[in-house]
Amino acid sequence: MKLLFDLHTHTITSGHAFSTLKENIEEAARKGLLAMGTSDHSSAMEGAPTPKFFKNYRAIDREIMGVRIYTGVEVNIMDYDGLLDMPDSLLRTMDYAIASLHSACIESGNREENTRAIIGAMRNPFVKIIGHPDDDRYPIDLEKVVRAAALHNVALEINSASPSGKTGRIGAAKNIPRLLELGKKYSVHVIAGSDAHIWYDVGNLDAAKNFLEAAAYPEELVINTNLEYMAYILNKC
Ligand SMILES: [Zn+2]
Ligand SMILES: [Zn+2]
Repeated sequence: MKLLFDLHTHTITSGHAFSTLKENIEEAARKGLLAMGTSDHSSAMEGAPTPKFFKNYRAIDREIMGVRIYTGVEVNIMDYDGLLDMPDSLLRTMDYAIASLHSACIESGNREENTRAIIGAMRNPFVKIIGHPDDDRYPIDLEKVVRAAALHNVALEINSASPSGKTGRIGAAKNIPRLLELGKKYSVHVIAGSDAHIWYDVGNLDAAKNFLEAAAYPEELVINTNLEYMAYILNKC
């Protein structure tokens, strides 16, 4: 399986990442990626940029150093109904949104509450990816989440950083294979993401690829295997 692009990358603007957009794109070009998405954290995360930053994505060219550039955001899920920390009026101006649970923005509830939070976020038409649904710090009903992803046409992220020890997340090595088994059962789209917080991790999708190959996940359900599959997650509103 060949993974051709990476949509989950952070720049120094996120407040706790270490590289510039230019450094990230240089790395994407060096690794031969066809495309890169930039997805800084949204404003409820301490140190993250104000809405003005995201409004100015129009300043960025569509192709830089031979790499197709997509503009996105990793929005924070703020409550157990799936409230996001970015209004639709701003979400609609960018290419895509990843919605995630982060300990800086929401405390873990019980399994029912965390599940409801993620499914609530999926109901937002601008959310096309759920970030790292692999974290035992936020226990979820994985089957319910996978079925909801099928219903709402949302892709579930296979996060390459989760099992690496570079994040605070736990349980990914156990949860990702389960997610993929359920994903096959319900024909859910998935997307590998590096979640890079420093330039050399851009396009670092090997861990995700290993899980996908071990699960024999159908390539036509893996967004990163074909640039045309971007159509499933691009904001078209
Ligand atoms: Zn981060
Ligand atoms: Zn995240």
